[in-house]
Amino acid sequence: MTGTERGSLHYPLGHAPGVSPAGLELPTTSKTSLDPTRLDRSLLELRGVGKTTQRRLQAIGLVTVGDLLLHLPFRHESPSDIRSIASLAVGEETVLRARVLSVASRETTRRRVKVLEALVSDETGSVLAVWYNQPYLEAAFHDRPEVLLKGALVRQRGATHFLVRRHEILSDSGESLHILGLVPVYPSTADLSVRTLRNLVHEAVPRARDLVDPLPARMLSERRYPGKAEAVLVSHFPGTQGEARRARDRLAFEELLLLQTAILRRRFRQESARAARPLHPAGDLTRRYLHSLPFQPTNAQRRAIAEIDADLGRPIPMRRLLHGDVGSGKTMVATYTVLRAIEQGGQAVLMAPTEVLADQHYLELSRRLEPLGVDVRLLKGSQPTGEKRAVADAAATGRAALIVGTHALIQEGVRFHELRVAVVDEQHRFGVRQRDAMLAADTQGLWPHSLHMSATPIPRTLSLTLYGDLDVSTLDEMPPGRTPVTTRLVFPGSEDKMWSFVRQQLDQGRQAYVVCPLIEESDSLEAVSARQMYVCLADGELAGYRLRLLYGSLRPAEKAEAMADYSAGRADALVSTTVIEVGVDVPNATVMVIMGARRFGLSQLHQLRGRVGRGGGAAYCFVMIDTEDETVQERMAIFARTNDGFALAEADLAARGEGQLFGERQSGIGDLQVASLLRDRRLLEQARATAAQICGRTDTDLPGPLYRLLLEAAEERFAAKVDWVDRV
Ligand code: ADP
Ligand code: MG
Repeated sequence: MTGTERGSLHYPLGHAPGVSPAGLELPTTSKTSLDPTRLDRSLLELRGVGKTTQRRLQAIGLVTVGDLLLHLPFRHESPSDIRSIASLAVGEETVLRARVLSVASRETTRRRVKVLEALVSDETGSVLAVWYNQPYLEAAFHDRPEVLLKGALVRQRGATHFLVRRHEILSDSGESLHILGLVPVYPSTADLSVRTLRNLVHEAVPRARDLVDPLPARMLSERRYPGKAEAVLVSHFPGTQGEARRARDRLAFEELLLLQTAILRRRFRQESARAARPLHPAGDLTRRYLHSLPFQPTNAQRRAIAEIDADLGRPIPMRRLLHGDVGSGKTMVATYTVLRAIEQGGQAVLMAPTEVLADQHYLELSRRLEPLGVDVRLLKGSQPTGEKRAVADAAATGRAALIVGTHALIQEGVRFHELRVAVVDEQHRFGVRQRDAMLAADTQGLWPHSLHMSATPIPRTLSLTLYGDLDVSTLDEMPPGRTPVTTRLVFPGSEDKMWSFVRQQLDQGRQAYVVCPLIEESDSLEAVSARQMYVCLADGELAGYRLRLLYGSLRPAEKAEAMADYSAGRADALVSTTVIEVGVDVPNATVMVIMGARRFGLSQLHQLRGRVGRGGGAAYCFVMIDTEDETVQERMAIFARTNDGFALAEADLAARGEGQLFGERQSGIGDLQVASLLRDRRLLEQARATAAQICGRTDTDLPGPLYRLLLEAAEERFAAKVDWVDRV
């Protein structure tokens, strides 16, 4: 290997001799002790960056040289061939390599557009090159440089000229950054052009050699990945598209691996610091419960139960996410889990985000468990003080085995005699502090096992990250006999037909939900609109039927009454806001009408729709379309066609971006520089597995020196962020 070849990259491109794209080289040294601080340097250090550019760079999150190096192009333009002037054809986009012979600027007489004209020539001929509105280029062409011009020959009023779309002045080295080879295209802004970014990246790229590679050599060769410096270089200025993809994947994998490593390290550290009482294997009570069920558990439920059983037998607290679409049967798994504690003399708590939901759980659980001799209590804010005190008392003395409640559990400072299992339903609806307060150690320093339930349809790989320190059980199978809900879009003018269908269902003894438009900013407006809808239906389409009204700011007693009437079949239709969004289970309800559907996300609509079709019979969901907006109609059409919550979540994501779906939690992780949690799912899964191997299972199981750099990098990049994410 000769000195000049060593470490250089080759660009297999068929361009004219003497012109090389970008003309980049990796450093020829093999130094390993590098100064990593150079990457933390301000972008002001780069040629061409003044205060203004610095500010613009900062606006897109680029502060240091290192940030810029990882600002990867989202694609590369395919290379274009150089054509001779003689062979130019009108209308064909092409590249010329020519010398400027003369240059002049003028203004068009009619519309006063500034035109710059340059006569350029190559060995085969000459042509007039034209730029509009870029008179400042004139100075640059005075020295008659050699240029690359990308554009097309156009014919205008009998004359032909070459209209330039992009140009590049060739330096002595003949290197091309903007026109030849695979030209990187960067995410840019109005005041920060792709060209500027390309120049800056090019300027910064030699510093890639200062990047510390956290991936050990063995991992690189196993995964056939380039080293870090080369990956950065190649992902900007590749020889082939494939090379660019590989380099980018490597950087994305690294980022995800660091993230997963930080998450798992944090988690194992925590596990070794927290103790729980291991529970004995399942006993008589759980067996009797399972026998009392009118159905067989699904395979998914069995799997979740087995996973939970394994967790409960360990002397560290279970922290498991039970994840499944609405109607997948999470409640049964949760009930099993609380019984595991109760049959061994412990207590359990189930916390729900709303009173409606707490009531529902209480009804269901007391109905199922009291026959088995389990003392179930309910605690919620709207109860009379005396009642609350009695429940708190029963919890403290251990008389009550299972307490179902809302945040009131925390507000009332309820203490348990021996809390062994805590279940948090719709866990994302609780604040971090509320969950922390519920899941604290008892006086003996023992933590409860916890099960967190969620119906938010996010792919498993994402939950692995967003709920990083939780194990995940997914109920990916619906109980048998559930018919998919038939969903119809209802356009203005066909409401009559819909309401007559709804009345038919009610006449057959079925029940209906009418969901009022979402008004996010204002509870009171939402209440007004719900009341209006109620009055309007009571006097109109549903006159003569028994209606109930439910909205967030209604008095708790009224809410409970409306819900109880509806559950017991004493009401035909429930007019409500999205307070019914989660968890409510009335199998006899077969129709749902959703007003103002466009304001809801697809996932949210899906959650709503999950309220019907629980009784085995046919079920219907009508979506009122009150707009001619085609994108809205398209979204709604997707909803009508798709009964799969995960697919809808992805459609939501595509429409609204990742940040929207994960909200707070996503921003807790911070913006990933290279990887996308959604698109890089396969890499994320691999990174998770690799991180698990590296971290081992416990803290005594320390990773070897091989991974020192990786652990340091994970700590530096993600530890603080993971601390935040961790606090589920
Ligand atoms: P979610 O996951 O939305 O909380 P639920 O636990 O409320 O779902 O279950 C929805 C309905 O399905 C309930 O009526 C429940 O009794 C019923 N169910 C749960 N598991 C099964 C099963 N394995 N077979 C039949 N029905 C089931
Ligand atoms: Mg539920």
